Amino acid sequence: MEKTKKTILVVDDTETNIDIMLELLSDKYDIVVALDGRSAFDALEDNEVDLMLLDIMMPEIDGYDVCREVKSNERSANTPIIFITALDDEESIEKAYAVGGDDYVTKPFKPLELLARIETQLKLKELISHLNYISSYDEMTGIYNRRKFFELGEKRFEKSKNELYAVMIDIDKFKNINDTYGHPTGDKVIKAVADTVSRHLSDDAIFGRIGGEEFAVLCSCESPKNVSDNIENIRAAVEALEVASDAGEAIRFTISEGVAKQNSTTKSLDELLRFADIALYEAKGLGRNRVIFR
Ligand code: GH3
Ligand code: MG
Ligand code: MG
Repeated sequence: MEKTKKTILVVDDTETNIDIMLELLSDKYDIVVALDGRSAFDALEDNEVDLMLLDIMMPEIDGYDVCREVKSNERSANTPIIFITALDDEESIEKAYAVGGDDYVTKPFKPLELLARIETQLKLKELISHLNYISSYDEMTGIYNRRKFFELGEKRFEKSKNELYAVMIDIDKFKNINDTYGHPTGDKVIKAVADTVSRHLSDDAIFGRIGGEEFAVLCSCESPKNVSDNIENIRAAVEALEVASDAGEAIRFTISEGVAKQNSTTKSLDELLRFADIALYEAKGLGRNRVIFR
């Protein structure tokens, strides 16, 4: 079940301050409490925290260092942090923003103002997550869009030690499907292909829609045999699919796949994908519905 209440992590070394926060916030939010920096890191690991209220003056790790650490960790970087502190000099405030803080409230605070600031940060966080989502995923299929595919692909290529495979996938004679059954049915076919390919890929494969009816996969496998079996299985699984047209007819369709493997002379991701593309066009030229390895 989706949780309805947002979770706020309150970090303060003074228990009376924590009690005040619990009193003010626990009706509206789930509250997790930490009395020092280290426990705050543990709490972030163990909970889906939506926002942090952070004291600055604490023994061992102060609030600034906690903030720096939270913002440098990929998992928590988007968690808004509101500093709540007795320090009200300009230098302390400037530093709070410099280390990545999102807002700053001085003690004693006005309860309604704090509640409003919390709501503003939660709204901003939701907007940012939504923007991240729509800038990374293809709306129709839910897989990576072209931009995200290349962003993640470049990173994978740099790290990979010649074990990367690129697969280009293109639906055969797709224009005919649109022309015969209409665009909405064409869309259904694109979705069905994306779903089927997804189901055959391991979690660490990068799979994106890079054009209208064109997809690309980057994956690493222990053995080339594994890869060739899997890619052939994908082709066969699509060939076995049936999608109903808007008029209720059962439609069958096929894909062609071109595969290239990275080696010590592969200069870039673009080059690897170009080789996969050449193999794909060979597959098209040889009659479609087949896999060609380059
Ligand atoms: P081939 O076997 O050589 O790949 O032939 P094809 O007909 O699949 O290739 P072509 O590139 O000629 O046609 C692709 C068509 O895909 C043209 C375009 O109108 C259609 N298309 C692109 N994006 C979408 C989409 O989002 N939805 C639908 N329904 N059609 C799309
Ligand atoms: Mg303190
Ligand atoms: Mg096509």
